Amino acid sequence: MAPTSQPASAAIPGAKKQQVSLYQFFAPGGVLSRTHPAYEFRRGQLQMAQAVEQALEEKHHLIVEAGTGTGKTLAYLVPVIRSGKRVIISTGTKNLQEQLFHKDIPFLEQALFPDNDGRLNVCYMKGRNNYLCRKKLYDLTGQPVLSGLEEIEHYRAIAAWEKTTQTGDRAELAELPEASALWHKIDARSDACLGQKCSSWDKCFITEMHRRAMESDIIIVNHHLFFADLSIKQQAEYAPDAGILPEVGAVIFDEAHELEDVAGSYFGVSVSNGRVEELCRDVEASLQRNHMLSASISGALKSLRERSMFFFALLPQGEGRFSFENRRDFLEENGEEFMALQQSFTRLNSELENLPSKPEEVFNFARRTQELQVQFGFLMESEDPNTVFWIERRRGGRDKFNVYLQATPIDVAPILKTCLFDKLECAVLTSATLAVGGGFEYMRRRLGLEHTRESVLPSHFDYENQALFYVPPDLPDPRTPQFAAKAADRIRQLLEITRGRAFVLFTSYAQMNEVYQRLLGELDFPMLLQGDAPKNALLEEFRLTPNAVLFATSSFWQGVDVQGEQLSCVIIDRLPFAVPSDPVVAARVKSIDSEGGNAFFQYQVPAAVITLKQGFGRLIRSLHDRGLLVLLDNRILKKAYGRIFVESLPNYRKTTELQQVEDFFQ
Ligand code: SF4
Repeated sequence: MAPTSQPASAAIPGAKKQQVSLYQFFAPGGVLSRTHPAYEFRRGQLQMAQAVEQALEEKHHLIVEAGTGTGKTLAYLVPVIRSGKRVIISTGTKNLQEQLFHKDIPFLEQALFPDNDGRLNVCYMKGRNNYLCRKKLYDLTGQPVLSGLEEIEHYRAIAAWEKTTQTGDRAELAELPEASALWHKIDARSDACLGQKCSSWDKCFITEMHRRAMESDIIIVNHHLFFADLSIKQQAEYAPDAGILPEVGAVIFDEAHELEDVAGSYFGVSVSNGRVEELCRDVEASLQRNHMLSASISGALKSLRERSMFFFALLPQGEGRFSFENRRDFLEENGEEFMALQQSFTRLNSELENLPSKPEEVFNFARRTQELQVQFGFLMESEDPNTVFWIERRRGGRDKFNVYLQATPIDVAPILKTCLFDKLECAVLTSATLAVGGGFEYMRRRLGLEHTRESVLPSHFDYENQALFYVPPDLPDPRTPQFAAKAADRIRQLLEITRGRAFVLFTSYAQMNEVYQRLLGELDFPMLLQGDAPKNALLEEFRLTPNAVLFATSSFWQGVDVQGEQLSCVIIDRLPFAVPSDPVVAARVKSIDSEGGNAFFQYQVPAAVITLKQGFGRLIRSLHDRGLLVLLDNRILKKAYGRIFVESLPNYRKTTELQQVEDFFQ
């Protein structure tokens, strides 16, 4: 695979030459059967490849649900390669990005171009904060402001690595801890980037990545990078040099069930006390370095810091995420403090603009100052009916809080329709969990996808024989206080039958901790708890520990793959409805209801269906997997809406009898 080199016009020469049809590739006796060691004919895979090829040729959008085991990555990669078009593939998780780049694409190069006559230009791009900013590192070298021995050690390692790395991707620095404070000061986030005016522009890793993307036929990104780029382009009104992703003929969104959430976060606005402080710190450090820090600028910075601290302290109290509906009342009471904060931005901005013969980065600081001022104005004064305003307060150390003031679009559909789907010739949305009740109405409505072909592919697994789905009819409603004790007892009984080998997944930390505590000392199997170690370490331990039981919450509901007997049971505590008091969820519910819709059936139930399908999807990962699925929430049997969940799940064999669970494992 060549991540650099040839111009895009020379793209995929082999693919254009080779005449293998999709059928000749995927069908029994075809290319795939001769080249893949674990080949099985998968009708759904061929159908998906044909649908994707048609979408690319006829330039229309496609939404396709392809369950685990379909082999969907090859089903879209082969038509993409055959099309000769430049295509972006956007994924929800890093694991899938890596699988595409390191496994699937090299395999296809070998299979399709054994004579090496069709090398693909492929580029794998991560978010900007994964790359080193050379300018920031050089600035730090001149005047290292490092705290503690550990930071000094990291600095030395990074400075040595910078001289040899080709990519600037921090993944190459295995010894650098995930939460390194130093990295945050020198990464290539766009905030402080000077762009073409930067003295390191020519050898900048971001410039290089951009150049590589321009020369690539397949560009692998994640949804965060894709939507960050799209929102930059939208703000710059599609100026040709805005953003880093090039124009493409099509975008494939894999793990597309995550699009609404990710898009919502990039088309919103967010300011925080930390962001104001970061601006002050950057201005101070730069002016000090350039011997330009005057008393009047120090005064402006001091005033901004004080005003910001005061303003954030006045915001409504509370921890976590909560709505900020009463902004008008707040402003009536605290208008003066808000105005004082805005004036501090004005003051700093004019101090910066008045600096004589200023270095380039000062223009950037002025831009950041103005941007913050405008965003504060929007967050406090906008009456946009399609935006929900909310606050998030997180503990950031002893007596310290990070406070975020946020605005999120209530409905991203009109935004995505205008700035994505109306502009793209072809978008393919795929995932194992997109359909509700066999259709895509929910996804189409939430994402603003109006004209599209649709397909739900037949499963490659024999779910009826591979999985038993058990719902205990006798447990109390999970919303009652009696539930935890009874649930813990039933989990113990079930784990004795399955001999551990289970994920017990919860919808809340509180419930997870309570049930875990109740079972501690009661189980004969090793118990692992989310939070006791990083996610990957826990998963590795689960894979290596016979009969282990893992207690976890939402982060283990998706993107987790444990094949084989080691995972023989997935237990879920309750129907995963989103927390109704969450400000974004509450605003969406209110908006749908006020427009005459029924938010429960149009939004809350379908969203929970998708999440439940994701959670249960952890169990059967291959044709040889077999096991038990348990939902401890019997509202699925008793409530009218339960039918929608049942109809949306694969056709597992179903039971309400514990005896049948025992029989299944004998
Ligand atoms: S162009 Fe931007 S990211 Fe690149 S080195 Fe300069 S400031 Fe850093």
